[in-house]
Amino acid sequence: MAWEADDRLKEECGVLGVYTPGQDAAPVAFFGLFALQHRGQESAGIAVSDGSMVRMHKGMGLVNQVFAEQTTIQGLPGEMAVGHTRYSTTGASVLRNAQPVYCQSLVGDIAVAHNGNLINAKELREEMQAEGETFDSTSDSETLARIIVRNLPEGVEKAVGEVMRRCKGAYSVTVLTPKLLFGFRDPWGVRPLSAGRRGDGYMIASESCAFEHVGGKADREVMPGECVVVDKDGMRFFQAAAEPHHSMCLFEFIYFARPDSKMYGTTLYTARERMGAKLALEHPVEADIVVPVPDSGIPAALGYSKQTGIPYREGMIKSRYIHRTFIQPDQSMREMGVRMKLTPLEDHIRGQRVILVDDSIVRGTTTKQIVKLMFEAGATEVHVRITAPPIKFPCFYGIDMASKGELAAAVMSIEELSSYLGASSLGYLSIQGAVDAVGKTKDHFCLACFNGDYPIPVSMDQKKHAFDEPPDVGHLAGVASGQLRLIED
Ligand code: SF4
Repeated sequence: MAWEADDRLKEECGVLGVYTPGQDAAPVAFFGLFALQHRGQESAGIAVSDGSMVRMHKGMGLVNQVFAEQTTIQGLPGEMAVGHTRYSTTGASVLRNAQPVYCQSLVGDIAVAHNGNLINAKELREEMQAEGETFDSTSDSETLARIIVRNLPEGVEKAVGEVMRRCKGAYSVTVLTPKLLFGFRDPWGVRPLSAGRRGDGYMIASESCAFEHVGGKADREVMPGECVVVDKDGMRFFQAAAEPHHSMCLFEFIYFARPDSKMYGTTLYTARERMGAKLALEHPVEADIVVPVPDSGIPAALGYSKQTGIPYREGMIKSRYIHRTFIQPDQSMREMGVRMKLTPLEDHIRGQRVILVDDSIVRGTTTKQIVKLMFEAGATEVHVRITAPPIKFPCFYGIDMASKGELAAAVMSIEELSSYLGASSLGYLSIQGAVDAVGKTKDHFCLACFNGDYPIPVSMDQKKHAFDEPPDVGHLAGVASGQLRLIED
């Protein structure tokens, strides 16, 4: 059981692939994974190939906990590597579900790192079990890995083509075999994947920030349905999907991805600043200061401030060192809620009319506590401004969201939610505003959690489960029950 101090959305996973001719790839993969740590903090792993054999080390915890010993990295020789940081969306948070997934194949052992969620994993697994396949874990990633294993002897094109044909859902994947490294992105391009260079070598990663972190440079994004192959002859791309679409997760731009990453050719920090500016145009209010909820609200708060001329001020300090922990806080500490993470700067807040800028509201429990902190620190008004449009529908593509009945914006009007939060006013950026801030049109994005329009068809059964759950109004009635989220392993 792991404890988390808020109800923020959880990123899914980070994947990485590295080819470093003439030197070991594991140290580069290790430092590259640090840049993807925000995408998953439950487990981490690296697999390497020395040209004939694939070796792997993985474990539960943060990257520097899993690879605490220099000798662990030294025990991973070879010029090619894949790496993974995990937050579990499918399958329990236990070591056997940590990644990369390791499988034996006719071309030698392979390691697979997956970010996303297969919506037809159950059916696929049952089909494959009926065909005699056995599975070592409960994760959907193993199902995908076993499709690769079956088809790899006929070539990468065949293996990736079969994954695209059979797997429905979101998947950005890196794969290591004894002789080559490849990565691919689902035909809808829901989760990000980029290719880059480092010296005379190559890299593949969920986000471009991983390249710069180890002295590399982004080359380009892997397109929906596209595969990139890296071996001693260089890097090549091929299109593996019959009908690729563009349905990238809008939330990557709003919150998940690191602000220094680039997607659709735009640095996310810039996109988020523009979201803040658009939010100011859509929801202006008279106030004295603009305060971000750190860290993700900072670029948007700066954008709001620049657009309006209302001064930007830090209003709270975030503890850098309390993160996911497996040590259970006692009841009195639980009741402190977000205070364990955020401390208000009273000198900045007292007597001020505050515009509080954050990226999203899921259940509303965290925002409610932050508004309370602001008033306790002496704010005279707290106007909440949110850069994500209202979240009204659950995600089936790899983001761990509450069911529909638990999503604050799905069960309350803006006025009701504002009053529940205890805010002076509440304003959300529109879908159009968020999309315009990225510089693309709506048809480039998955917007399902905002408008219920699922680009990859979701079965009625899955919808029923996520939609029909009765509203959990317990968390909306007060701060006692829902402000701390317990995730059962
Ligand atoms: S439903 Fe929302 S969180 Fe999920 S992929 Fe689509 S935009 Fe992203």
